[in-house]
Amino acid sequence: MGTGEQPRGVRGSAMRRGRFRVPALVAGGVLLAGVIAGCSSHSQSERPDPGQMVHSGSWYVREQWPHDGHPYESERFVVYSDGASQQARQRLAALAEEVFAELVDEMGVDPATMFRFPADQEKIDLYANRYNVLEGGGARAYYAGIIIASFDNDVGESTNVGVVRVNLKHELVHVVEALLKGNYVGDIPVGDPRRMPVWFSEGTAEALSGGSTGGAPRTLDRVNDLIAVYGRINPIAWKVDLPLSDEVLDAYPHYYYPMAQLAVEYLLDPEGLGKSPKDLAAVMLGMGNGVSFAAAFGNHLGISQDDYEAQFFARMDTYLPQSEFPYEAVALGLVALLAAGVMSGSLVWGLRRWPALASESGAPVWTRRARRGFVTEISAFACVAVGFLSLGLLAMRWSDIPQRVSRAPGYAVIACYFVGSAGILMWAIRSAGHQRRRAYLIPPLVIIATLIAIVLIQRIF
Ligand SMILES: [Zn+2]
Repeated sequence: MGTGEQPRGVRGSAMRRGRFRVPALVAGGVLLAGVIAGCSSHSQSERPDPGQMVHSGSWYVREQWPHDGHPYESERFVVYSDGASQQARQRLAALAEEVFAELVDEMGVDPATMFRFPADQEKIDLYANRYNVLEGGGARAYYAGIIIASFDNDVGESTNVGVVRVNLKHELVHVVEALLKGNYVGDIPVGDPRRMPVWFSEGTAEALSGGSTGGAPRTLDRVNDLIAVYGRINPIAWKVDLPLSDEVLDAYPHYYYPMAQLAVEYLLDPEGLGKSPKDLAAVMLGMGNGVSFAAAFGNHLGISQDDYEAQFFARMDTYLPQSEFPYEAVALGLVALLAAGVMSGSLVWGLRRWPALASESGAPVWTRRARRGFVTEISAFACVAVGFLSLGLLAMRWSDIPQRVSRAPGYAVIACYFVGSAGILMWAIRSAGHQRRRAYLIPPLVIIATLIAIVLIQRIF
């Protein structure tokens, strides 16, 4: 093209952009929200024909679920399912390979020489539920396999990769434990000294995965709060699974699992017993050679289980700090302060600029129209933006997201949202204040930004 044409073209498109900018912004926002909302609800597919389902599988020891006959195989895993897409299976297998490599490295385990698979199995089976529901939710391990929800599940289980990763790692710790011992905990009768106590099994799974429940309590204040609700239950005394009741289903994720995690974290912490995950693996391997748990534990951790139980609360008294500096409360306070600062800034800016911008002649006079526009704008901003900002931060603070899952993307979305809302406000004051129509675009634009932020946060967690 000729050199003379370009500037004309640019000018032309700039003019077009100028004229259509506002409707385009609104349309773009609505479109984006639509696209994001559309992505979040994946397409429905038919359940596989029951006649084509295959009735076999290692998971039958726990759940009598047939599979659809299309397993996906990776190096160490076979992913069976009741209808998950191949892509979802592949994703689960890839994540499992990654977590497995990390885990055997941490535990110093050599699968080739140390693992004892069941006679007819060479790989770890993953049953990825698309439609079946596990009682109590979450995931379960058995001897050489795991039942877990697929990444395209239709049963409302989380598909957030951080959440799935923690759950998968927790269950993989159980599988590594079983493969090192050459048996699954449920196969050894209660009371047999070769049976792994639940506190050690779940505590190890929680400590090495980062915690699939609330995470270990980090202060004595927190431990005392838990004791006030659930009673002074010694986690080391949790040797066998409790019969499930509503009380137990409440106490397990809030007291038993976090306290067992604390008990194992203490074994691993340099300020506790300073042992390593390799020592935990050695206990499992020792049990595989017929040694009782008590003996294997004493040999590799340098303290007897009975002493640990007797001394548990006394050791925690010296190990845990009474309370913790309230980082999160302070951070929330700072963000609120920042929000208030932006609000005051825009208020001062608006007070100085609005009269001139809102009058037809350009003379800085506070007409009724100017005042009304300014008040509308500021209140819309205050109600929607600051209101949602505080709600978002509070919701993140009190949500059930596992401790190890990073909340940073969520906070980033909220921060972008707030910057975006402030930007909309500043744009309106600076460039379009004198055109009253545009001032009234602030509420719908901020509402669109709010919707986008809500959808994004739901997608992340
Ligand atoms: Zn577990």
